Amino acid sequence: MSLGNLTFSCPEATALVQRLLAEHNIAIEEIDAQTVYRWIVTYIHVTPWHDMLRDYLLVMFLYKIAASTAYNVRAYGPIGYPQSLWKQGSRAAVSWVLSSRLMRPIVNREIGKARASLEHDLILNNDCLLDFPTLPAQGLREDLVIEELDILQDVLPHTAWEDGKVSGAVYHGGEDLIRLQSIAFEKYSVANQLHPDVFPAVRKMEAEVVSMVLNMFHAPIEDGACGTTTSGGTESLLLACLSAKMYARQHRGITEPEMIVPESAHAGFNKAAYYFGIKMHHVPLDPVTYKADLRKMERFINKNTVLLVGSVPNFPHGVNDDVEALGKLAQKYNLRLHIDCCLGSFVVAFMEKAGFKNVPLFDFRVPGVTSISCDTHKYGFAPKGSSIIMYRNEDLRMHQYFIEADWVGGLYGSPTLAGSRPGALVVGCWATMVKIGEDGYTESCRTIINAARELRDYIDREIPALRVIGDPQFSVISFTSDKLDVYELSDRLSKAGWHLSALQNPPALHLAVTKPSVPAIPELCTLLRSTVSEMLRDPNHKPSALGTSALYGVAGSVKTAGIADKMIVAFIDTLYRLHPSEMQA
Ligand SMILES: *Cc1c(COP(=O)(O)O)cnc(C)c1O
Repeated sequence: MSLGNLTFSCPEATALVQRLLAEHNIAIEEIDAQTVYRWIVTYIHVTPWHDMLRDYLLVMFLYKIAASTAYNVRAYGPIGYPQSLWKQGSRAAVSWVLSSRLMRPIVNREIGKARASLEHDLILNNDCLLDFPTLPAQGLREDLVIEELDILQDVLPHTAWEDGKVSGAVYHGGEDLIRLQSIAFEKYSVANQLHPDVFPAVRKMEAEVVSMVLNMFHAPIEDGACGTTTSGGTESLLLACLSAKMYARQHRGITEPEMIVPESAHAGFNKAAYYFGIKMHHVPLDPVTYKADLRKMERFINKNTVLLVGSVPNFPHGVNDDVEALGKLAQKYNLRLHIDCCLGSFVVAFMEKAGFKNVPLFDFRVPGVTSISCDTHKYGFAPKGSSIIMYRNEDLRMHQYFIEADWVGGLYGSPTLAGSRPGALVVGCWATMVKIGEDGYTESCRTIINAARELRDYIDREIPALRVIGDPQFSVISFTSDKLDVYELSDRLSKAGWHLSALQNPPALHLAVTKPSVPAIPELCTLLRSTVSEMLRDPNHKPSALGTSALYGVAGSVKTAGIADKMIVAFIDTLYRLHPSEMQA
């Protein structure tokens, strides 16, 4: 590399540098400090200030490009970086081609077809039902409303989750719990945590819910460990990321925050990056263990890093990241570390008590862990709309608060994303937790984990065409196949009433074992085996159709990024349609 063709704004300066280079006959990396010093003095001497400013901007610009290239090559690797550039470039090119005047009608026709099929699957009406596109002019009698609720349940019945054939989705704790939660709801249906002076009992119960969960995760409460309730796992993740961003801004002056997240982490982290303007780096997984590759994670760390993330377990594969090693990494670089136990929740927290051996450490006992999220509305069996975000100390928690001391409406402060909050949900959560207790959760942990391991071992032992991903120790078991199309398998299973979650990269299915699914596991095992051998005997089975199963995770046969995005938009739009669109036209 030579400075020979670098042109400064001031011709004298350029001439000077070129003359000096020629004079010394040296490459730039051989120049010693003394020479550079002499050049700078001469340069300043001969260059007017405005040319100097222009040169400064040019050099800074070149430096930024060089530094960012060096970082990306280090983080993504000398092959991975050009590959990722290529991927970005080809995505942009494909999406440009698809939006061209030539292709747009074809794309729109395909999207229209998919939209129609989504609407056909999702918008279910029935002539027996009353329709309310507008408010009824006169309110209905109460008994008519209740009757309509019954008819709705009869003519548009929900998937039979009671049989345990739906992955995750319904974390049901038993019939008597529903009764208890309804009573709690009735007693506190108007309660709002925004007004603790009006509802002192709700405040007490909320503080106790947080404290019970902190204790389950061995939080050092005497040293300030604390938390808040939230409306669900996603909000807990959003707040953990917001707090990391604001904390780093205050304590380290970081204005362009970045976080480093395993590819297997929940999409809620992507949502946080999107909402709060945090740059997200995705760490690849180890191809054998499916845990985040921590050597690769370390290479992403830079001066703007505000948060590292691990999951116990992650949503797609039910595999846990190595929290102790993550803790060491976080401490080495003095970074914050969030552990997502939203899914693990009351299962991971009770595994030791339930007598399982070799449970890896994942909670506040690991030095370096600064925050943990735990969904009370998953294996805590609380009513939906409830989760806990925990922090090692109060300073960390404070950075998720919103504070406005100058508002005309009065001094305003709010701990989480919502303003008014449904107190009834916290009461329902509290009632559920004290009803079930340590013994109840230990027992549900034991049965759920045993059922998941039964499924895992059965697939390992009896169905060689399927491959369990990683070494799942918890309640979620995922599997892929080199022999058959797992999406087709999924379609066939759903004809038999089983709704597994579809995953991608690689194509895979998973079952999050819940309490209702425990007794149905043996049936699933034999069904899997018979369906797989049926598919293997039938070599020209069609690839899976693009249906709703494609959405939480899978883009099915539609691989192109731009099209998958449009499909997701079509799906969400469909949720708010009264009638299929051809009927509206
Ligand atoms: C379910 C889940 C969450 C949060 O999801 P919500 O639907 O918002 O409750 C976060 N992380 C993991 C690993 C999860 O499985």
